[in-house]
Amino acid sequence: MLDKALPLGSTIGILGDGQLGRMLSQAASRLGFKVVTFGPDAGSPAAQVSLASKVAAYTDEAVLARLAESCDVITFEFENVPAASLDFLTGKGAVVAPSSKALRITQDRVLEKSFAREAGIGTVDFYEINSLEDLQGALEKSGLPALLKTRREGYDGKGQVWIKSLEEAPAAYDSLNGRPSILESKASFTREISVVAARGWNGEIKTFPIGENHHVGGILSTTLAPAQVSEAVTAKAHEIARKVLEGLDYVGVLAVELFVLPGDALLLNEIAPRVHNSGHWTQDGCLCDQFEQHIRAVTGWPLGDTSARCTVEMTNLLGPDILEWPTLAAEPQSRLYVYGKDEPRPGRKMGHINRIKA
Ligand code: AMP
Repeated sequence: MLDKALPLGSTIGILGDGQLGRMLSQAASRLGFKVVTFGPDAGSPAAQVSLASKVAAYTDEAVLARLAESCDVITFEFENVPAASLDFLTGKGAVVAPSSKALRITQDRVLEKSFAREAGIGTVDFYEINSLEDLQGALEKSGLPALLKTRREGYDGKGQVWIKSLEEAPAAYDSLNGRPSILESKASFTREISVVAARGWNGEIKTFPIGENHHVGGILSTTLAPAQVSEAVTAKAHEIARKVLEGLDYVGVLAVELFVLPGDALLLNEIAPRVHNSGHWTQDGCLCDQFEQHIRAVTGWPLGDTSARCTVEMTNLLGPDILEWPTLAAEPQSRLYVYGKDEPRPGRKMGHINRIKA
């Protein structure tokens, strides 16, 4: 817990070393903070732009203990960091945000959706699956098609399989290698939107305008923001974000992915306990972007202005898309972000471009 703002020049630790850590580190250094990143890969996107980087497994207690000693606050950019590592850091006297409780709930799709329901937020119908019998029983109730997902560690559409008939159940179950799973009824949504929001140590909340997201092959392709949605949808989405932030006693930035149903009812799909790809548009659409907002929240600084200055379309540059950089860099009214990864493997997030639309 921080009861006053960290002074200029304080040190922030970031668990996770990908592009989100890189952009958090850049935002932190603009405000005069020093950043130490911690992750498994030498020369990672985050390490390239940080004062120091520790290359170690997230469970390496000796390195975690040194991090706890050297940082004024520790945060994370990756939701698959073990929650036990956060508990270890807290046990060593570190200030950690968001909390391990928030991480534990949002790491697990069953706990996450149960939390949402308890907080009065709608979700698709879902069933906990620990065996093929569970799956067969659940498919009798879920309707078809239904989506089987691993409870943990799924991202960008990985660890998910649609089931269209009862006969497909055994193969679908086997394809997830018997991992604890969740069966979800299909949401017949008209649009997918997300809301990125922040809460400070003092309970202050600020919410960014809504983004509308388009996925291709389960991976986010574009976000258009502020989205062309009604005031009622915006108000409902912001209210859901507030319930999530307060229910998790959350400190930092998170994203809530929502399905918009016909008639404009909203269902919560997923909570990302971190800055999020669908919030990258804020780098050019808002005076205070999601990365700076997260740094402000966890360091006890006042939260920044989240109002939109323009409409932005963010497009992810996946794999070889990045090789088009000479053309992209020459585009007017746009800004290119490159993550510093070597190999443009298909589907790998290599960078993004923010195009100003209005
Ligand atoms: P997720 O990894 O849960 O965010 O899912 C990735 C994408 O799959 C979502 O953005 C949706 O487009 C789609 N999806 C996930 N869950 C459902 C569902 N229950 N019904 C319909 N589409 C879904």
